[in-house]
Amino acid sequence: MKLTVIGTGYVGLVSGVCLAEIGVDVVCVDSDAGKIERIRKGETPIHENGLESLLAKHIGRRLTATTAAEAALLDSSVSMIAVGTPFDGERIDLSQVEAAARKIGEVLRTRDDYHVVVVKSTVIAGTTAGPVREILEAVSGKRAGIDFGLAMNPEFLREGAAVADFMNPDRIVIGGIDGRSIATVRKLYRPFIERGVPIFETNCDTAEMIKYTNNALFATMISFSNEIGNLCARLPGVDVLDVMAGVHLDKRLSPRLATGETIRPRMLEYLAAGCGFGGSCFPKDVKALAAHARALALEPRMLDSLIEVNRTQFLELVRQLERHIPVLAGSRIAVLGLAFKPESDDIRESPAISLIEALIARGCSISAFDPLAAAGFRRKFPNWPVRYGNSVEATIEHAEAVVIVTRWKEFGRLPALVAGMVTQPLIVDGRRMFRPGDFPRYAGIGVETNDSNISVHPNIKVAGLTP
Ligand code: NAD
Repeated sequence: MKLTVIGTGYVGLVSGVCLAEIGVDVVCVDSDAGKIERIRKGETPIHENGLESLLAKHIGRRLTATTAAEAALLDSSVSMIAVGTPFDGERIDLSQVEAAARKIGEVLRTRDDYHVVVVKSTVIAGTTAGPVREILEAVSGKRAGIDFGLAMNPEFLREGAAVADFMNPDRIVIGGIDGRSIATVRKLYRPFIERGVPIFETNCDTAEMIKYTNNALFATMISFSNEIGNLCARLPGVDVLDVMAGVHLDKRLSPRLATGETIRPRMLEYLAAGCGFGGSCFPKDVKALAAHARALALEPRMLDSLIEVNRTQFLELVRQLERHIPVLAGSRIAVLGLAFKPESDDIRESPAISLIEALIARGCSISAFDPLAAAGFRRKFPNWPVRYGNSVEATIEHAEAVVIVTRWKEFGRLPALVAGMVTQPLIVDGRRMFRPGDFPRYAGIGVETNDSNISVHPNIKVAGLTP
């Protein structure tokens, strides 16, 4: 089976490379010639663990890359749309999806054999069976369900673990306009299906809604935890880490097996307070879902609230800084972490952007470090007065305060580094990697401390569990 993937970004490239790994012949198409050039040389334009070695293994063999969409589409039986679907401020911007559908439609016009179009981009319910189908039929002059198939196959990979997620899916959701379209998409994933990965078959609208609901659920859990954390930070002696550790023990969240072993589902990672979510998915997807609800005359009160809680969550870090350093103007602040999450170089909607912008506006002198994202950050904000350190040590040297924005493993050695400093900075922990007792001067999301009340925060231990 030969597959053309249109759009070779995070999702398109990872999908293309991983599908090649499970035996599909893949052509990756992108309108960005520079990106294609790099991929052809075996270089990945993004950082994802394991991606470069898989690309090197398949490029020029089961995987090729090109800007020439027509030639690729002429030669393949399935095409997958994996282009961006940004939020334009008011609603989802489907222009990239529509352009890709038009391109496929032009090629379908010249073909007589059956072809299946799969939408992998995250799109609001009704897009695949609505505008995408209309464009394909209008441009090709052919009929969906008769001359060509149409399916929606949302992607659930998480940046930072994209290859591992794609290769070990928890489920594969396939929406289709008919059984033949769904059967074709099943063939792409045959090795996974044979391994027992659950397949969820449905219509296109439901598949689209599953993806949004999934993202909105986790975003809700984060914003909920952040609001609880902000309340804890106003309650002396209460640390949100302890509150959440106690909540996580509820058997509906952490089931206890007959053997006595407690299961700690990954979901609990989202029931944790921090300085807000970012990335290319949660913020734009929740906004697109809310806008879609509004367009259908439904007031999305929960979705609006979780977006608003997230939009202002970085201010909690500013508040903590202002509490400990009354005059921020002229103060030296080190920001650790620019990527929206660890193991990724993606800075899209990272809380570091809002935070640094706010600190610049307050006249702070800023140094910043990120193991992967610093170059991209500097490119995106070339005029921001930020000094980029090339190590944690170099970045925090002379800082009055250090703000942790991304939970990079590298920052775990901060207590030892700070202990060795002559003048020890205030640590403001946006990801709650640490406890108040780990530093002489510490503040964090969900915990209120000053230099004298640290002792009222016991490091609570739960028998049999590490909190
Ligand atoms: P991206 O911006 O990284 O990649 C999109 C790519 O499409 C770019 O390389 C762009 O040049 C290319 N492109 C745009 N229009 C084109 C056209 N007409 N022809 C050829 N190439 C074109 O986006 P992404 O992060 O990979 O996201 C893609 C889709 O997948 C979005 O809908 C997103 O919501 C969804 N998604 C993303 C993630 C994630 O973690 N990034 C996870 C699941 C789903």
